[in-house]
Amino acid sequence: MTFEPVDAAVVPRFAGIPSFMRLPVLTDPALVDVALVGVPFDGGTTNRPGARHGPREIRNQSSLMRRINANGICPYEHLRVADLGDAPVNPIDLLDSLSKIEAFFAALRRAGAIPIAAGGDHLITLPILRALATSPVGLVHFDSHSDTNDRYFGENLYTHGTPFRRAVEEGLLDPKRCVQIAIRGSYYQHTDFDFARAAGFRIFTMDEVMDHGIAEIMGETSAIIGDAPTYVSFDIDSLDPAYAPGTGTPEIGGLTAREAQRMLRALTGKNIIGADVVEVAPPFDPSGLTALTGATMMFELLCAIAGGRR
Ligand code: MN
Ligand code: MN
Repeated sequence: MTFEPVDAAVVPRFAGIPSFMRLPVLTDPALVDVALVGVPFDGGTTNRPGARHGPREIRNQSSLMRRINANGICPYEHLRVADLGDAPVNPIDLLDSLSKIEAFFAALRRAGAIPIAAGGDHLITLPILRALATSPVGLVHFDSHSDTNDRYFGENLYTHGTPFRRAVEEGLLDPKRCVQIAIRGSYYQHTDFDFARAAGFRIFTMDEVMDHGIAEIMGETSAIIGDAPTYVSFDIDSLDPAYAPGTGTPEIGGLTAREAQRMLRALTGKNIIGADVVEVAPPFDPSGLTALTGATMMFELLCAIAGGRR
């Protein structure tokens, strides 16, 4: 049994109950190869909140996705894909949310379903990695920020500025197979990137992306992550705010939407064990453009995973 999106030539895109990509909403992850899920939690946000509303609005905008991407990949011909709902969260208890999210994704892993998650702020990637990384995994991380800071507001270890430092400390990542792309903006201290670089991350700043071009950056990324299990995390603020204004911590001078699409397509056929699109904050997104862009990146990630099954 495979699952197909509702046909927009039969039921118009603005009609019906919105699910990711207009796919069926299921509860049993054993029925799918790829699970599209929401994680409506933004309790790790240090600046403007709102990403808790991301999954619902990304579902709405994903009604515009069709079946086949520009590389000719139709994921539904190769994979069973459905909307598996939202991970449970506790909006007034961060640690409880982390454990609830981890348990939800662990159930997906045990069922053999590859998750593509819609956040939520970037802290949600930590419990997802805790659930998926039964041994250290590689990482392709699109972001304007490194998210490898240590502590905020005293001794708080868990914010959307710290998930990848915690993931290294917890042995969830193989740092020599970790890549960060589109890093830019002003930063706090000269030492801000010391942890990531000392661990072995390859950081491609936005200036390097501009100077070397997409093909070279993604070629080096492919060589670094190799064929071993790799997680892909896409912070929508990797894009220039002109393309994605609806996010909590925008940084000017970023990727165009087209550049990001081509970068995700370059991951086709890699050993992707899971992915997310995070930091879409609908309260700052009056046109819906950011949520549409997030939905499109989820679709490109789905096609990159499916392309390896062709
Ligand atoms: Mn981030
Ligand atoms: Mn960011």
